[in-house]
Amino acid sequence: MSSTSHNPGVSILRTLHRIRRQLTDLRERLDRGPRQIRATEANVKQCVETLAKTRAEAKALRMAADQKQLQLKSGEDKVKDLRRKLNAAASNREYQVLLEQIAADEMTNSVLTDEILEALEETDVFGKNIAQAEAALAAARRKAAETSAEVARQEPLLRADVERLEAELRQAESDLPGEVRDLYRRVVRKKGEDALAVVINQCCGGCNQQVPLNLCSQIMLGQPVACKTCGRLLYLPE
Ligand SMILES: [Zn+2]
Repeated sequence: MSSTSHNPGVSILRTLHRIRRQLTDLRERLDRGPRQIRATEANVKQCVETLAKTRAEAKALRMAADQKQLQLKSGEDKVKDLRRKLNAAASNREYQVLLEQIAADEMTNSVLTDEILEALEETDVFGKNIAQAEAALAAARRKAAETSAEVARQEPLLRADVERLEAELRQAESDLPGEVRDLYRRVVRKKGEDALAVVINQCCGGCNQQVPLNLCSQIMLGQPVACKTCGRLLYLPE
């Protein structure tokens, strides 16, 4: 029989530390759920904005292309009109002026035609961008729905575990011998979840500083001992 088994207070401290660690872990998992949901919702919002922006850009591009088509149409009509006037030109001078006008307008129309082709190609690219943004949004919505369903499924299980462990904690605390309990309560008030540490190879498991032999003996005798460096309440491993 090891000497610690004669001192229930020491093994209870071990149990208390385990319960406290488990509680910390469970509470972190409980906190993580809403954070995960917020992250997936932020992602959905981002995807909605990206899609709206891409659609607006595509629309502006299409409107600019339509505008240019109208300009081209009236430019072509103008050239037709000038050609009619050319046939009816009364003088050589008038004929030359009309020819120059037609050449200039045809140049403008040709530039417009290139610009329209370019805009149509760009519209094509934007069509693909919109499809991509729609797919990303659908995926983000699916992920958000899955995450919140999973969090909703986990939450009651985690809460039940917390409740069970809190009851175990209260029980173990009330099982502590009086002299240990006083120090335990003081240290927990000050250090919370960080109140306990195991002694491994004569070192405090919390701060890694050496625990003098006489203190180790006191722990073995079931006396309440706090680490001189970090103040954690010490217990021995099994
Ligand atoms: Zn320490």
